[in-house]
Amino acid sequence: MTVLAVAEHRRGRLRDVSLELLSAGRELTAGTDRAVHAAVVGGRAERFADRLARVGVDVVHTTAAGEAFNHDVATQALTQLVEAVDADLVLAPHTVTGLDYAPALASRLDWPLVTDVIGLSGDDGLAVTRECLASKLVETLAVDGERAVLTLRPGAWSAAEGSGDADVRPFTPDIDDSAVRSTVTGFEAVGPGDVDLTDADVVVAVGRGIGSESNLDLIFDLADAMGATVAASSPPVKKGWLSADRQVGQSGAVVSPEVYVAVGVSGAVQHVAGMADSDTVIAVNSDPTAPIFDVADYGVVADLFDVVPELVDAFRPP
Ligand code: FAD
Repeated sequence: MTVLAVAEHRRGRLRDVSLELLSAGRELTAGTDRAVHAAVVGGRAERFADRLARVGVDVVHTTAAGEAFNHDVATQALTQLVEAVDADLVLAPHTVTGLDYAPALASRLDWPLVTDVIGLSGDDGLAVTRECLASKLVETLAVDGERAVLTLRPGAWSAAEGSGDADVRPFTPDIDDSAVRSTVTGFEAVGPGDVDLTDADVVVAVGRGIGSESNLDLIFDLADAMGATVAASSPPVKKGWLSADRQVGQSGAVVSPEVYVAVGVSGAVQHVAGMADSDTVIAVNSDPTAPIFDVADYGVVADLFDVVPELVDAFRPP
């Protein structure tokens, strides 16, 4: 029996979550005779496969499926690959792309689908954990029958490391072109967006406390000095000051960077749901009772307009 982890790539780059899926697979199969295989569908499959083959996976399958992701092609290819390798568990990233094909794959295989998984156990049947009720609870689900498609939250596992020289096997699916009903004809970046918060190691998040759009320069200066990516709570996004792909929280991105600096963010549960797994949280807020301090490792109770310029000076290279 085999755990099949489906790697994700975008614009010619293998995404970190691919290696995290392999960690999860290895954790689940440790001490058993189950194998962990990786699948790369489309893109520069061979190049990505070489990288995956070096981190302790058993086999990497490459499937030529065009440069751009296509729902129908990916679903057909993965269904056939699952059957060919007798996989009993598929791990996909809980990303826009993963959420596109994973439900269709589960439906074709007639397997259960569990999304946004943050923990796995195979000790007594397959059990998965995930957060619910705006991260107030962690629920554990027993998965009936042991076969399942799971989408795993980016950042919930560390990236697989190690050595290895796994077999890279090309897999040629039999694609029924008449069942390919949609084709991506182009991409257009929306506004200044195109930000991938989930890959950022350092994030500076700005909240309503910044007051106005013109003050955002201060936040971008800080991010620049720290080598960080700018994120936001929902108010700066709702006001149209920042693009939606910068929002962190329940209705935005879920991030787990090494450092998360929250500036003028109160720490509402819906925001914390998206950043609570950050390694180190630093909060700047003038209100000492702000709930962000409950999840902060370091807190500065002060006016951000006093503190942030000092931080910029401190971080800016001489
Ligand atoms: P506020 O709560 O207004 O906090 C501003 C903070 O700035 C305050 O703590 C204040 O003390 C501080 N401040 C003000 N001036 C200064 C200053 N000069 N110096 C220092 N500190 C200062 N929110 C999200 O962020 N992400 C989500 O994905 C999200 N999804 C939601 C989904 C649902 C269904 C709902 C109902 C809400 C959601 N929200 C989300 C909104 C959430 O409930 C909060 O309203 C929001 O997070 C508050 O943003 P904020 O902390 O920036 O603003």
